[in-house]
Amino acid sequence: MSEITITVVPDESIACPGCGAYWGHPDPALDHPNRFKVDTFCRCYNPRCPVLYYDPYIGEVEVGTCEWFAACGNPATTVLEHPVLTLVPACERCAGLATS
Ligand SMILES: [Zn+2]
Ligand SMILES: [Zn+2]
Repeated sequence: MSEITITVVPDESIACPGCGAYWGHPDPALDHPNRFKVDTFCRCYNPRCPVLYYDPYIGEVEVGTCEWFAACGNPATTVLEHPVLTLVPACERCAGLATS
C-alpha cells in the first residue's frame, strides 16, 4: 500500500481582497480553498464574504447580488445574517435598513 501525501500549499498572494481568505490561512475562519476558477479569476469560498470571484493580480472583484430583498438586485457589499435564509449577500442600502 502506498502512502498518499496531500500537500496544502498556502498561497497568500491569491488572498481574497474582500475577506483575506486563502488556502492554508492560519485562521480556520479564513482558510478556504480559494483557487483559480474562471481564467484569472479566483473563487472565494468564504460564506461570510460577498465576493464571488476576484482577480488577485489586478484587484478586480466580482461580487454577488443583494439577496436581502428579492427585488433589490444591487451588488452586494456585505453579508448579513438572515433569520430564515441564514447568511445572505446584501447591499449597503439593505444592510442599513436591516440594522437600523
Ligand atoms: Zn472573500
Ligand atoms: Zn439590497
